Amino acid sequence: MNTASSLKSRLTRAQKQIHCLLEQSGETLTAQAIYQRLKDQQQMLGLATVYRSLRSLQIKGLAQARALPNGEWAYGLTSDDSHYLTCLNCGTSVPVEDCPVHSLEEKLGQSSHFQIFYHTLEFFGLCAPCTGRLEAESP
Ligand SMILES: [Zn+2]
Ligand SMILES: [Zn+2]
Repeated sequence: MNTASSLKSRLTRAQKQIHCLLEQSGETLTAQAIYQRLKDQQQMLGLATVYRSLRSLQIKGLAQARALPNGEWAYGLTSDDSHYLTCLNCGTSVPVEDCPVHSLEEKLGQSSHFQIFYHTLEFFGLCAPCTGRLEAESP
């Protein structure tokens, strides 16, 4: 995408470092995990800088955040799949391959004069192991 690559060239050093890390990791990471991994790679950034840079990347449409059941946020690139079945008990998230709303997104983007960067779709409940465990525990 042309727009994305021209945006990327205008990123600050910290934003580039974080974007690069998200690209390499291929999974969503919390701000704490991003901070820790950069530190492991000898790329020290303050936690406040990590948060601020993530916010900037989100507004540029290059990163997205997802609320985890434990109240933390997981960050990833907007190109990452963002459809999940999430267990409220253990926090496991299973990606969902099917997307029923992509055509809706295109339609809205054309008709609502709103620049849509991404959408998310998430279902909450209990995974099979947790369902089994909770049933075994109840009298
Ligand atoms: Zn579970
Ligand atoms: Zn979708």
